[in-house]
Amino acid sequence: MFNKEQDVFNVLLGSVSEGVIVVDALQNITETNASTDKMFGYDRRELIGQHLNVLIPNNYHPTHAAHFTGFMKDQERRQMGHGRDIFGKRKDGSTFPVEAGLNPFQLDGKNFVMALVIDISVRKEQERKITELNAELELKIEKRTKELNDSVLQLKSLNKELHKENKRRIEAENKTKKALQREIELNELKTKFLSLVSHEFKTPLSGILTSAMLLGKYQLSEQQERRDKHIKTITEKVHYLNNILNDFLSLEKLELGKVGYKLSNFKISKIVNEVVYNANMLLKEGQQIKYPEHIDDLSLTQDEKIMELALSNLIHNAIKYSPDHSIINLEIKQNSTQTTFKVIDNGMGIPENDQKNIFNRYFRAENALLTHGTGIGLNIVQTHLENLGGHISFESEENKGSTFTITIPNQFNP
Ligand code: ADP
Repeated sequence: MFNKEQDVFNVLLGSVSEGVIVVDALQNITETNASTDKMFGYDRRELIGQHLNVLIPNNYHPTHAAHFTGFMKDQERRQMGHGRDIFGKRKDGSTFPVEAGLNPFQLDGKNFVMALVIDISVRKEQERKITELNAELELKIEKRTKELNDSVLQLKSLNKELHKENKRRIEAENKTKKALQREIELNELKTKFLSLVSHEFKTPLSGILTSAMLLGKYQLSEQQERRDKHIKTITEKVHYLNNILNDFLSLEKLELGKVGYKLSNFKISKIVNEVVYNANMLLKEGQQIKYPEHIDDLSLTQDEKIMELALSNLIHNAIKYSPDHSIINLEIKQNSTQTTFKVIDNGMGIPENDQKNIFNRYFRAENALLTHGTGIGLNIVQTHLENLGGHISFESEENKGSTFTITIPNQFNP
């Protein structure tokens, strides 16, 4: 076609690595270079004269025809495909992706189009591989993220379990510690009891023995007065020993948490009568208990036995720690919610230094050591009263006297 310049064109076309295809206005191929022939699997110049459709996959023929007509009208150079993938068809019918740039030109008044074609199979394959790798990578990341999330969840629940286990262990440890502490305290109590029995029981027991022996000797009827004196001594001392034993028993019960309180409604005068009656037997020479006034109508809903125990403890102490011929006052007042018991004595009082320890178990004030006692009573009373919603306190001055005060709700609601 290019007659004179044939040689120049051949050199140019042959040196271009892209495929060059020239078609006329009817899409007949008028020129190809060696790259094109090779790319599409044709022998050299085999394509000349054939319709362009031989290089286009059949399914693209209809759209291609329309595009070509449009292009011939506009006569503008442009890239084929407008961003869509386009394909070439080899002689053997196989297809491959291409990129093609179109350049219209005129020669001798005729329209031609020169297409520059590049086989982009390798690039497309690489792109496909990259996309595939990316997808694989995403899948892997997704899987790993899921695995990580699962691990985090597992760790969290493990952590929760550990936390619970830890709590259980601490609770068990605390329980064991408490049980151990209780065991230690019970042992301590038993040791104390043994030392007390050997010390505190000796004197009353020998007193009882002496009185019993003497009783046997006073056989004449006119010796009744002496017999009575010894019977009184024996009764008192048995009473005393019995009190100590009771104190120890209630201590052990309190320690083991075995105390069950029995609530009932009772007249305050009933327990006061009982306590004062028993206390009268313990009074020293010339001592007097002043009975409280206006208590006939008062009653309590409390544990009657415990209230009796608390009151008798305070009155026995007042007797024990006051001299002959002293007066012990018992005052009782009640308002709408609580009742106050006051036991007032003019006895030896409690040294200021010892006052802070008075409710501690086994504690005995320095000035009380010559008087028999165990240091248990007030401790028990305090525990019981607090268990029943009450309170005990005191005011005391050494050598002047003491006032012990119990306040207790009129009606205990456990
Ligand atoms: P105990 O009288 O058997 O020693 P308590 O627990 O009843 O045990 O009392 C503890 C201590 O409180 C007594 O040893 C004594 O020092 C002191 N105390 C209690 N009541 C009085 C009181 N009314 N006057 C003086 N001291 C008292």
